Amino acid sequence: MTPPSIIRTSTAELYDTYVMKNYARSALTLVRGQGTRVWDDQGNSYLDFTSGIAVSALGHCHPHWVAAVQRQAGELIHISNLFRSPNQGELARRLVGYAGPGRVFFCNSGAEADEALIKLARLHGMKKAGGEEAKCYKIICAKQAFHGRMFGGMSATPQEKIQKGFRPLVPGFSFGELNNLQSFADLIDEGTAAIFVETIQGESGVNPCTAEFLTGLRRLCDQHNLLLLLDEVQCGIGRTGKFYAFEHIGVRADAIAMAKGLGGGFPIGAIWVGEGAADLFQPGSHGTTFGGTPLACAAALAVLDVIEREQLLVHVTQASGPWHAALAALAKDYPKQMTGLRGRGFLTGVQLTGDPAPYVAALRERGLLVTPSGNNVIRLLPPLNTTAADLAQSVEILRAVFAAKA
Ligand SMILES: *Cc1c(COP(=O)(O)O)cnc(C)c1O
Repeated sequence: MTPPSIIRTSTAELYDTYVMKNYARSALTLVRGQGTRVWDDQGNSYLDFTSGIAVSALGHCHPHWVAAVQRQAGELIHISNLFRSPNQGELARRLVGYAGPGRVFFCNSGAEADEALIKLARLHGMKKAGGEEAKCYKIICAKQAFHGRMFGGMSATPQEKIQKGFRPLVPGFSFGELNNLQSFADLIDEGTAAIFVETIQGESGVNPCTAEFLTGLRRLCDQHNLLLLLDEVQCGIGRTGKFYAFEHIGVRADAIAMAKGLGGGFPIGAIWVGEGAADLFQPGSHGTTFGGTPLACAAALAVLDVIEREQLLVHVTQASGPWHAALAALAKDYPKQMTGLRGRGFLTGVQLTGDPAPYVAALRERGLLVTPSGNNVIRLLPPLNTTAADLAQSVEILRAVFAAKA
């Protein structure tokens, strides 16, 4: 399985001519997927440990998912939120079952879910300030956070490469050090409405909140009447071996953003809001045309069905043990290239001594697709149903790449 050098195809030309230049895209053109594998237009197959950036939770074209989406597409696709659909009601019920008593709002992406949380914080702040607007609206986030590319989330993402060119930003965001509770406590004042963090930071190197830190944030929120908002867009929906990553810590959030894995490849996002804050949104206060269509909800229901039927939370937990042990052994064998392992379950970061880009390319040449994260991490995001054999193969490919560069 040695892919030939990339031939410039007509698809490449179409992209060069017509598609906006906002991505540094890999040179592969992918045409087909099945399970953990994808095929390019040259007939080469790859082990896909990007899962479309933690999206294709069931791998590619899982038969139950395909059947559910095909069936729904022939029945009813989109109706807007002027009407009810059975699928949206049922999906909300299932998500409340995982998150706890509360309510769900559906949207179409992670960024949109994060924007909804930011608006929720504003409504909470207004209530806290006795109904007065613009008095209490500040949100404390983490340095190295990633909360999407829209104005609210981007303003909550203090990275020069993401904010540059788009200022002025939305006011009111300040930033503490992840896992430094005091740095968050120091930022709280009268005007603070919420604390907003990723349970495990996905884009900036796979950095988990410690249990001590997250339970400390909960305490601060209780003391100061702040909402604790968790961004589970990447780490949620089973990726860490629990349905939500915060379940490992047992902390209670006031609201959660989710998206990526939820639709198994179909665009859908959602926020869950606990009972205490769920009624802040009232008719007219927020909305989206496409949110929670019958088709999107059918896709997400199929994802939940398969996670439950195939016991994928148990699978991720069990399979990640030996996989992580084998990955950690690579750090011992190749200390000049790999310094350690981070993350949890199938949200795994291989920490390198340098730039991940050449490794991403070398792994691709040997048939493994991965995505970089931060300055020195490659992220392994296999589908939740990846077999032990495929996990073991990923380790062998990594070993071969490290050995070749030793
Ligand atoms: C991907 C991601 C987002 C943005 O989601 P999009 O669907 O790309 O808008 C927000 N937060 C986190 C933690 C993410 O990983």
